[in-house]
Amino acid sequence: MKTAKEYIDSIKTMKFNAYILGKKVDCPADHPLVRPSLNAVAMTYELALDPEFQHLTTVTSNLTGKRVNRFTHTHQSTHDLVNKVKMQRLLGQKTATCFQRCVGMDAINALSITTYEMDQDLGTEYNKRFIDFLKYVQDNDLVCDGAMTDPKGDRGKRPHQQEEKDVFVHVVEEREDGIVVRGAKCHQTGALNSHEIIVMPTMSMKVEDADFAVSFAVPSDTEGITYILGRQPSDTRKLEGTFDVGNINYGGQECLVIFDNVFVPWERVFMFREYQYSGKLVERFASYHRQSYGGCKCGVTDVLIGAAANLAEYHGVENASHIKDKLVEMIHLNETMHACGLACSTEGKATPSGTYFVDSLLANVCKLNVTRHPYEIARLAEDIAGGLLVTMPSAKDLEHPVVGEYMKKLYRGINGISTECRLRMLRLVENLTVGAGAVAYRTESMHGAGPPQAMKIMIARQANLEHKKELAKEIAEVITCDHEC
Ligand code: SF4
Ligand code: FE
Repeated sequence: MKTAKEYIDSIKTMKFNAYILGKKVDCPADHPLVRPSLNAVAMTYELALDPEFQHLTTVTSNLTGKRVNRFTHTHQSTHDLVNKVKMQRLLGQKTATCFQRCVGMDAINALSITTYEMDQDLGTEYNKRFIDFLKYVQDNDLVCDGAMTDPKGDRGKRPHQQEEKDVFVHVVEEREDGIVVRGAKCHQTGALNSHEIIVMPTMSMKVEDADFAVSFAVPSDTEGITYILGRQPSDTRKLEGTFDVGNINYGGQECLVIFDNVFVPWERVFMFREYQYSGKLVERFASYHRQSYGGCKCGVTDVLIGAAANLAEYHGVENASHIKDKLVEMIHLNETMHACGLACSTEGKATPSGTYFVDSLLANVCKLNVTRHPYEIARLAEDIAGGLLVTMPSAKDLEHPVVGEYMKKLYRGINGISTECRLRMLRLVENLTVGAGAVAYRTESMHGAGPPQAMKIMIARQANLEHKKELAKEIAEVITCDHEC
């Protein structure tokens, strides 16, 4: 397994074709808008070498028998599924942001099931290719970007009906040695911090859309791939180098990733025009990632609850009953999300491939809670923090020899806590509720792994409402008959 430094060094050697704030950037890893997100991924390496956490962060590979980072592993038991969620909560606590590596882990697991299924049904060799790729990922301890979401263009039209075909990734050429693809993936978490991109279809495809039913993996700096870094609220504070950024060392990252005639050798193609399996792959990836949110967002919430509790103390109101009540409410909402993440894991089942799959109904319930609870938790944190959260002057003003003295005097809280400590804690809450960190904490909770309506569709499909109706009829002794009563 790599050390955190070896990981960062390995990303620095890659030749990304990347654009940030309208400029081409040769080494994104060194860019102040990217570095915090790289640090967050690096934590997945650091904790894998820390004996205190290795029971969660590492596992023995079922493929090679070697100790590997859990992020490169396919779950072999419900214990693995549970430990995945616990590891994600731990990483959320250590970084207070999105640490980006889960999308690749969830893609790997979804592909291990779906490629196996295709080979059994169709006599193809997708699973063999995929397992070879996975061994390479494990042996080299790589970060994979799991790329699913296409820009989609006119949502009322199928992919083949789009005027601009590149709004969906698709095959443009089939060659003896591989395929050529075009299109784009948006909102790509951690793309510029990844060694490999694993592309999957964005939705269930029909026969007319077979060219869009494609899955493959390529090194992230493959010729023809361009990255444009997404903006975040208050992102330019990262250029200032002060505590005004709120989360000083860590952050998340999303990119628009463009594929302009990218060549993929056959050994890296895991689905080629198998449109009947595209929906299954999407659903499996989505369910795994909806499980993931019952870990990562809870760890970030732990930090936010801690920040709110610290501020209550700094303001001298920690014993007020309404403050205690608000903190308990935040904890309750957080543990509800985590309970769902654990429940869908313990209820997981083995698939014919050997990989364990989560209980999809419960994973969808988990993520539906995650689309709501962080908003209420953030509201309560803002309530406790007070209005200074969004009116305080900058860290540079605090350092100023003249106005800094006014700030120190006027913004002090209880004795024993400096004004700077109070402002730092406020900036952390600001970061997570309305600043750069709110991307990972709130909006990603809404849209990451699909928006709320996507979960409701899955819940409706899996909840067996007819069974519940029968239960009620039995209890009420209501008999339905086919004639007029
Ligand atoms: Fe991992 Fe959570 Fe980020 Fe998804 S949102 S990549 S689960 S940290
Ligand atoms: Fe996400």
